[in-house]
Amino acid sequence: MAADMGTIQITTSPRLFIPMNLYLDIFQHCKSEFPYEAVGLLSGLDSTVKQVWFFQNERKSRTNYYVGIEQIKDVINQISIQKEELLAIFHSHPTARPLPSNKDIRHHPKAGGFMVIVSLQNNINIKAFQVIKESYKEVAIYIIE
Ligand SMILES: [Zn+2]
Repeated sequence: MAADMGTIQITTSPRLFIPMNLYLDIFQHCKSEFPYEAVGLLSGLDSTVKQVWFFQNERKSRTNYYVGIEQIKDVINQISIQKEELLAIFHSHPTARPLPSNKDIRHHPKAGGFMVIVSLQNNINIKAFQVIKESYKEVAIYIIE
């Protein structure tokens, strides 16, 4: 039967799949940087994280992070050599909720993928967001095997 496939549009809402072992690596890193903010990148394909890249927070701050261009260039280069995509930038909130601050939103690079925030306040909590202009929308995270 002939069907006009050209008119079919499949839209999936944005989401992020994180394998359990990488999910634990992210927490471990954020805990080891405590009380300072931790920062890194998540790369992979098809919304699925394949690698976690840890940066050094050159500012060593409890409420801030800074990563120099050299660290960033090096990792972005490795991600592209491995033919993966930059899926997200993550950082931790050592003592705050996992919600983007105004500064987080302002500084989120357009090509940076999702914003993932790991909160170490009370119980460990991780959330992902899509930053759209001055605002953000939560993205579902699925932990996979
Ligand atoms: Zn933040």
